[in-house]
Amino acid sequence: MKTNTICVQGGWQPKNGEARVLPIYQSTTFKYDTSEEMGKLFDLEEAGYFYSRLQNPTCDMVAKKICDLEGGVAAMLTSSGQAATLLAVANICEAGSHVICASKVYGGTSNLLAVTLKRFGIETSLVDQDLPAEELEPYFRPNTRAVFAETVSNPSGVVLDIDKFVSLAHSHGVPMICDNTFATPINCQPFKFGVDIITHSTTKYMDGHAMAMGGCIVDSGNFDWEAHADKYPGLTTPDESYHGIIYTKKFGKLAFIQKATAQLMRDMGACQSPMNAFLTNVGLETLHLRVPRHCENAQKVAEFLENHEKVAWVEYAGLKSSQYYDLAQKYMPNGVCGVLCFGPKGGKEGAMRFSNALKMISIVTHVADARSCILHPASHTHRQLNDQQLIEAGVLPDQIRLSVGIEDVEDIIADLDQALAAV
Ligand SMILES: *Cc1c(COP(=O)(O)O)cnc(C)c1O
Repeated sequence: MKTNTICVQGGWQPKNGEARVLPIYQSTTFKYDTSEEMGKLFDLEEAGYFYSRLQNPTCDMVAKKICDLEGGVAAMLTSSGQAATLLAVANICEAGSHVICASKVYGGTSNLLAVTLKRFGIETSLVDQDLPAEELEPYFRPNTRAVFAETVSNPSGVVLDIDKFVSLAHSHGVPMICDNTFATPINCQPFKFGVDIITHSTTKYMDGHAMAMGGCIVDSGNFDWEAHADKYPGLTTPDESYHGIIYTKKFGKLAFIQKATAQLMRDMGACQSPMNAFLTNVGLETLHLRVPRHCENAQKVAEFLENHEKVAWVEYAGLKSSQYYDLAQKYMPNGVCGVLCFGPKGGKEGAMRFSNALKMISIVTHVADARSCILHPASHTHRQLNDQQLIEAGVLPDQIRLSVGIEDVEDIIADLDQALAAV
């Protein structure tokens, strides 16, 4: 099936007489006839459902659809994008491990890695992702276990030089993990460029209607854990909590997701509810229609803003003026995403006047919704910081994050235009 068809028909494939639409298995548990059968599931001897914290058929069907969209071998859903990042990293890192992460990633991600996981003994170096390879090289340490970055960063819209990061990671024998939330598999399929593991906040474009929190981890199956067995004992040596099974030996290319499910989801419990998976699936059925429209509208809005006298600056990788234009053309020639950043004239004050004058476009803590929305990081997500601290955090005091929706672009532009008049 091609991408558009996977969006509509991937995942759930009903057999004769079964429901046409993905059923919601709203059940925490599953029944077996004999004690022995259930025992085999606990030993991972046989595949099957027994408790929805570990696996649930509705969630698995949605994971399969996302897996096929990305061209992976296995996937799992998580309760949120944050949980996807946590489990993807925790699956191959432990106290004493080191992670290299692009500094422009989502604030929740850099906090999780550089602050919270640090308390658990996992250290992260946040690196300027635009540095040339030879200047990134010195950040690698003998205990580096993963490299993490976003294909398109939230909120700044920076496009990753995927080739540069993949070859650096692989030359040091560690996997490249990419958060592909903003680009989505409609615009970019990172596995084609050698990325090993993909994470998603499905809360964004995949759901697309601001209804359901969710996350997903997809594995390409390409990273050779056994070739670097000394670095990844969790995958390549016996798991005593599962009678000594060795994930790479028993599950081959499926080892990463099997371990993340059987061990981390079991213990950390960040599972997705079947209802949320169902809602996410409804969103996925139109992902291939919505994403191009988000991009088309965003392109027109970016061009409008760039030529507006009340606008100080615009950053959108679809604009020729962007320093990320060439990278976007290389990795996502059909479009980047619907989110862009700009600064109304008049600094922080101007940004607040502009926000308050909007009529149709709403102020919300969200992006990638069908409805256009904005956030002013300096007065919302980063409001505890002063101007100097904002700049250090990579957020400009006047920066507006605009998530362009799929309304008629003329209405979006008209609302922006009248609100800019208040600046
Ligand atoms: C929102 C977001 C996350 C976190 O996802 P949640 O579903 O909100 O937990 C992670 N990465 C990116 C790029 C995001 O935009």
